[in-house]
Amino acid sequence: MTKKGVLLVVSGPSGAGKGTVIRDAMERDKSFYYSVSATTRAPRAGEIDRVNYHFVTRERFEEFIRDGAVVEHTEYSQNYYGTLRSETEGKCDDGFNVILEIEVDGASQIKKKFPEAVSVMILPPDFKTLENRLRSRGTNTEEDIKRRLDRAREEMKFYGDYDYLIVNYDNEVRAAADELISIVKCEHMRTLRNPDFPAEFFNLNNN
Ligand code: 5GP
Repeated sequence: MTKKGVLLVVSGPSGAGKGTVIRDAMERDKSFYYSVSATTRAPRAGEIDRVNYHFVTRERFEEFIRDGAVVEHTEYSQNYYGTLRSETEGKCDDGFNVILEIEVDGASQIKKKFPEAVSVMILPPDFKTLENRLRSRGTNTEEDIKRRLDRAREEMKFYGDYDYLIVNYDNEVRAAADELISIVKCEHMRTLRNPDFPAEFFNLNNN
């Protein structure tokens, strides 16, 4: 029997380095599946439709909401973002550890719908580092940077709602990715996630 995968919600302010940490973990651990979200924001340089996001119009996104095609959604920096039902359904049952890289509002919607989901907040070591990272990206306007920093302050209020914290220090991506992999390993060892084990141990199902 395939063991059910973990539904893993990963949040953190824009500039925390979530994407880099997740990519590093996924390169080394093939049990992860990355849920590709839908968004109405424009692609950044180098971003590919259906790889980074499903880039859609506002009209299309509003159709998704009406049709129940998104399991959670929010508005962030004046754009819609949402997790597509088609990206998550069945993947955990197939044994994949499904990563939802989403912000705090979406994370709380997921926790309500799927209480067994595990939530991780990835943070830079301090606020100044966050600001430096956003500026060095060079892909955001000054106004956008300010909006993202304000949003980061707001997101920190939800810190206590998360199950785990990972601090992503500069030049320590591998260490942060190792922590993400460890969290999933530990979650798989929970007795709650292995309810049939006592029966298997005594071979009760084969009699
Ligand atoms: P960015 O524009 O930097 O790619 O993403 C902005 C924020 O939206 C990030 O915090 C990212 O994690 C979040 N985000 C991306 N996809 C989703 C989603 O499907 N749902 C929600 N709620 N947030 C998302």
